[in-house]
Parts: sequence; structure tokens; C-alpha cells
Amino acid sequence: MAENAVATRKRCGTNDIVSDGDVKRKNAARDMDPAAALALTRHEFGEHGGVNMSIEASATFTVMEPETLRRMFAGELGPDRDFFIYSRHFNPTVLNLGRQMAAMEGTEAAYCTASGMSAISSVLLQLCSSGGHVVASNTLYGGTHALLSHFFPRTSNINTTFVDIDDLESVESAIVEGKTKVLYFESVANPSLKVANIPELCRVGHAKGLTVVVDNTFAPMVISPARLGADVVVHSISKFISGGADIIAGAVCGPASLVNSMMDLHQGALMLLGPTMNAKVAFELSERIPHLGLRMKEHSHRALVFATRLKKLGVKVIYPGLEEHPQHQLLKSMANMEYGYGGLLCIDMETVDRANKLMSLLQNDVQFGFMAVSLGYYETLMSCSGSSTSSEMTAEEQRTAGISPGLIRMSIGYIGTLEQKWTQMEKALTRFNDTHPIP
Ligand SMILES: *Cc1c(COP(=O)(O)O)cnc(C)c1O
Repeated sequence: MAENAVATRKRCGTNDIVSDGDVKRKNAARDMDPAAALALTRHEFGEHGGVNMSIEASATFTVMEPETLRRMFAGELGPDRDFFIYSRHFNPTVLNLGRQMAAMEGTEAAYCTASGMSAISSVLLQLCSSGGHVVASNTLYGGTHALLSHFFPRTSNINTTFVDIDDLESVESAIVEGKTKVLYFESVANPSLKVANIPELCRVGHAKGLTVVVDNTFAPMVISPARLGADVVVHSISKFISGGADIIAGAVCGPASLVNSMMDLHQGALMLLGPTMNAKVAFELSERIPHLGLRMKEHSHRALVFATRLKKLGVKVIYPGLEEHPQHQLLKSMANMEYGYGGLLCIDMETVDRANKLMSLLQNDVQFGFMAVSLGYYETLMSCSGSSTSSEMTAEEQRTAGISPGLIRMSIGYIGTLEQKWTQMEKALTRFNDTHPIP
């Protein structure tokens, strides 16, 4: 049995991210449902025949012949043939998680990083040189917005023009030919829940030779940006993919040539900046990906039920699953069937005071959820975006990004029963209205 498993592992070891024999299977995975593609990825067994893979916890790897080391450093022998150098470079366990991410997103390859921000910063530094230019959506995660508007201009002379991605003409006219390298946006924006028209944005970007990079953190399984034309998909794995609110991690999913270039010994952003994921963390995350689809369905189901009922009560709710959401039809046309419209909804309470009062009731009076940033946890997490995760943006920038001061972003959890949770929500709203009648 153990011998068998080792043999299988070795046989499959030739079937990694960079091998040509893999291309047909990868092309097929491009058109597939993410769960179907995940089920077809190679299953790595443990060293002793375990149903789960072994963790390759080594920082360094040994060889039988001195010549092998030289050939590995010369790039002649690589992970596609089960040759590994050092775990800041490719590590087998992290690579396995990368294979799952690539299957889920329908990209040729993927590699995982220590955080979502390091995935984003590394891939942008790989794609843009000093003097380069990025066109990005004006509604982005606060950290990414700060990276593009403050950090890159100061440290790397990479500048960004922020545009309304609904307006394809303004996207097109912001592109400076020869200078703009990347078009960057979020599939579903944090926290505005604005949905990007991925096929059209890719058409505009590709016509001018840009690499289209999409942050899919808010909609894993729900949307597959690469299947809709995007070149690169980045993730904060810390959110839905982890699901446990216990790990910070990220991923870059894209062409094998890009992933390999990011590991280049002389020019690679992952190899040289070193935002390395620990193999033990990669193992943990690999065990959670098989039930990501189930979790997303339940997050989405509950978010849709709550959004529908909140709307009926006259609460100002933003959810892309509601007919009235400006991009509802667009999302419907892009989304993978079965996973719903995502697990996030926003309640616009108009002022910070009203938002804080409602969150306090929801957490401290009725146990509906927790006041915390982040998302994708089994408990409901809620935060007032303007004064937390988007506080890097000025008041003006927040206005353009569609962030009202009283906007509560809620990541709907799946703990407890749906009706139990809804009763808590109703109770909190009744108590709120007793003291703060809705204007
Ligand atoms: C959280 C988040 C990030 C950053 O990810 P980390 O894992 O916290 O570094 C990037 N983009 C979006 C949309 C996020 O929500």
C-alpha cells in the first residue's frame, strides 16, 4: 500500500504546473464548473498511503549527485519533475494547494503566498517595471487602494489611474499605450458590492495589450474571472477559502509562464521578495478547499434570504442577488450556477452613529454576529467600512467608491439555523426602531 502510494505520487509528480502533457486537461478545466475541475485535480496521497497527503515540511531538499544541484539551479530540473531546491522557491505542499487554486479558477497554474496583499503586490511588481502604469477600479479593498495610490508611486514609480469600471470609455481613455501594463479590479468590490463586467473589461484591456488582473476574494466558486477572460486571478485566502478566520494567506492564479517567472532566481517577485507560505499552512488550507463549494452555497443562500427579508422591512440593503441591484443581471450572466450571489450584503444606515447602534445591538443584545473586519467566517462578521477597512480612503474617495458613512458590511455566516438567526436580526431591528425611528 505504502509502496503503491509512493509510486502514485512519483507518477503523478510528472504532471505538475509546467508540463506540456497537462495542457489539454488544463484547457478542459477552463470551461468547467469550479467544483468539477477541483474533483479532477490529482489527489496527492500521504507517504504511507494516507488518504491525505504528507506535509513536506523541509526548508531544503537533498540530491543524490552534485550535478543535480547545478541542473536545478540552471532551471533544467524543476518541480514538474519533482525536483525542489528550497522552500522559498517551490515547495511540494504549497504547490499542491496551488494546483487546487488553479483548478478552481481554471488557470494554467497558481502559487500561494503569505497573504492576499503579498499576492497582489508581488504580481503587480512582476507585471510592472519602474515607470509603469496601472488602470484600476475606484472601488477597491482599502489596502490595495493604499498600495496603488501611495506605496507604489513612492517606492517604485508605478502610478495608477482610478476609474469607474462601469464606464468602459473612461477605462479605455485612461489607458496610456506603451505605458499601462495592467487593468486591475475586483470581481465583486469590497465593500460596495459593485460587480465588474469581466468579459467587457477584458475585451477593452486586451485590445490595448494589457494584462487583466482580477481580485476574486469576495466571490470564490461564484465567479470564475479567468473563465470569463481574465489573465490573472488573485485571492486573499484569509477570507472564504480559509473559512476559519485563523489563517492569513493569498494566491496568484494565472499562466504557468507568469507563475514560473515569479519564481525566477534573478527576476522573480515571489522568489526575491519572499512572501512564502508555510507548508503546514498550505496543508491545512488544502483540506478546506473540498468543502468551499458547500460553504459558499450556504453563505449565499442565507445572504439572499436575509437581504430579501430586510428589504421587505424597509431596510436599505445592498445585495447583488436582489433584482434591483444595478448589476444583478450581469452577475447572473457571469456566475457559476449553484453557488448563489455571494455571502456579503451591506446595510446602509446612513450615519456612523446609527450603524454603530445597530451593530452593537446585533452583537451585544441578540448574538447575531461579531463586530470585526474580514469575511468568510462561519459566524456573521460586521463592520462599518468607512471607519475601518476603507479608512485608508479619504471622504471624497469613499464617496466615489460608493461607501456611505453608515454602510455596514456583513459577511453572513452559517452557524445556527437560518430562522434562529433571522429572529435575532428582527429583534435587533425592533429594538433599534424603538429608539431610532427609520427616517
Ligand atoms: C482582505 C482582502 C485583501 C487582502 O488580503 P490579506 O489576506 O488580508 O492580505 C485583498 N483584497 C480583498 C478584496 C480583501 O477583502
